[in-house]
Amino acid sequence: MSRFPSVIDAIGNTPLIRLAKASELTGCEIYGKAEFMNPGQSVKDRAGLFIIRDAEEKGLLQPGGIIVEGTAGNTGIGLSLVADALGYRTVIVIPDTQSQEKKDALRLMGAELIEVPAVPYKNPNNYVKLSGRLAEQLARSHPQGAIWANQFDNLANRDGHVVTTAEEIWHQTDGQIDGFVCAVGTGGTLAGVAMGLKRHSGHVKIGIADPEGASLFSYYTEGELKAEGSSITEGIGQGRITANLEGFTPDFAYRIPDAEALPIVFDLIGEEGLCLGGSSGINIAGAIRMAREMGPGHTIVTILCDYGNRYQSKLFNPEFLRSKNLPVPGWIGREPQFDV
Ligand code: PMP
Repeated sequence: MSRFPSVIDAIGNTPLIRLAKASELTGCEIYGKAEFMNPGQSVKDRAGLFIIRDAEEKGLLQPGGIIVEGTAGNTGIGLSLVADALGYRTVIVIPDTQSQEKKDALRLMGAELIEVPAVPYKNPNNYVKLSGRLAEQLARSHPQGAIWANQFDNLANRDGHVVTTAEEIWHQTDGQIDGFVCAVGTGGTLAGVAMGLKRHSGHVKIGIADPEGASLFSYYTEGELKAEGSSITEGIGQGRITANLEGFTPDFAYRIPDAEALPIVFDLIGEEGLCLGGSSGINIAGAIRMAREMGPGHTIVTILCDYGNRYQSKLFNPEFLRSKNLPVPGWIGREPQFDV
């Protein structure tokens, strides 16, 4: 067991967990990097830490300073826990469509939460743009200053994955990795891990798993940003080339419908004891597709982004699933089978 001076040092160094069914289905070795084991229960703790450390190094943050961010939730949780530990405040702008559990976690961490209607990026009232304007305003009016974390276009996000996630994966697989695949929110994870792994070996193939409603699959296959369909998954699904994605090109691209991803999430609970959020389902579905395309005998790694309890009221709620015409697993909402 490790011993750390603070919670911040407990971010990263997450285990790789073999995904038994995905591996057996494909004849490959498929591993998930257990990012839900970070202190804030998601992959975004890494971005929170690297964005704050980068701002400190640039002299942009002083004690009591405010960190402002527009986030689907997990980045806000990561930023808040790092900010709490280092003596900063956080103000988070979140689209009102995100799960109640993430909003509750943010309030619990002491973040000031501003819920706004979910509107597309091109709208000036999009949550990301609102957070940028608020940061500018607070930087002028707050005595200790304020910064905009700006995870989508702040390269400290991607750099964190180049120097931590990619290095960890390389060493955990003893360099015997053939493929890495995941979905994109900001692109920090995918582009950062790709960059870090390719520095070690040009042999590693990179895949993007895009949910429906996102535009990157069409961009990387046809050169045009075009969205089709929709997804209930949260934290992923990008409609533009963020700064974190600039210069990145995948070797494989997949568009994954929820109907393919969600049964994977449901089965993993009962069959492998892994309770994950919806984006992990998109990622594992992408890993299975990539394994089939590459053929048996390869080692493929993906990301288990966050824990399922963050989505109890949606992904694991029979009424919500029925309202979206999605299959409801038999054990969800089942009455107890035994009496006492
Ligand atoms: N899954 C979840 C649950 C997330 O919150 C995020 C971040 N928004 C991602 C995946 C995508 O990570 P990234 O921003 O590094 O692309």
